Amino acid sequence: MLSKEQFKEVSRYLDSLFPDAKCELFYSQDYELVIAVMLSAQTTDKSVNAVTSHLFKKYPTLKSLLDADIKDIENEIQSLGLYKNKARNIKGIAEILYHEFNSVLPSDKNELQKLPGIGNKSAGVIRCEIFKIPDLPVDTHIIRISNRLGIAKSSDEPIDIERKLKKIIPEESWIKSHHQLIHFGRYFCTARNPKCNKCKIKKYCKN
Ligand code: SF4
Repeated sequence: MLSKEQFKEVSRYLDSLFPDAKCELFYSQDYELVIAVMLSAQTTDKSVNAVTSHLFKKYPTLKSLLDADIKDIENEIQSLGLYKNKARNIKGIAEILYHEFNSVLPSDKNELQKLPGIGNKSAGVIRCEIFKIPDLPVDTHIIRISNRLGIAKSSDEPIDIERKLKKIIPEESWIKSHHQLIHFGRYFCTARNPKCNKCKIKKYCKN
């Protein structure tokens, strides 16, 4: 397990690699981010952006999504896996936000998780991005890096890894570290062929 001091070194390295790491999902309204985050399950942000750039133009308001024909939404997002389920979730998100929350996105984590397809990780992402509430949601990249750096065990659930990371990263850096670890996993410490020969935190790596 890395100490707080050791993670500071990792953090300085991530600062040098990804000083401006941020969410790569496209959205212009907060409910669009909710939909984009839900769509990103088991696919890449790039694939999500490819469908939402058209979907959000065609249905530019929450009400228009609420009134949309689900078959047309399925057609719009069919390049994504699980698209039938995800189309149902889009309709469900629009329905709950419009009728139960008066079209105002809640910041409470439990309330956010009432939206279909939004679990603990997605609610954390939305809180960080929209409300700037410190959180450290753990995705597949962060799981892999935490395992490689010996922060997590392979048997750990994402929630265990989140707890461990929060112990060694100061709260004011949770959002930044969340984005930087994802970028590190996406562009450097990739699942296949990570750039180990260039890596400056190799001494901490168990890979
Ligand atoms: S040495 Fe390789 S696997 Fe380990 S953290 Fe660096 S890039 Fe990732």
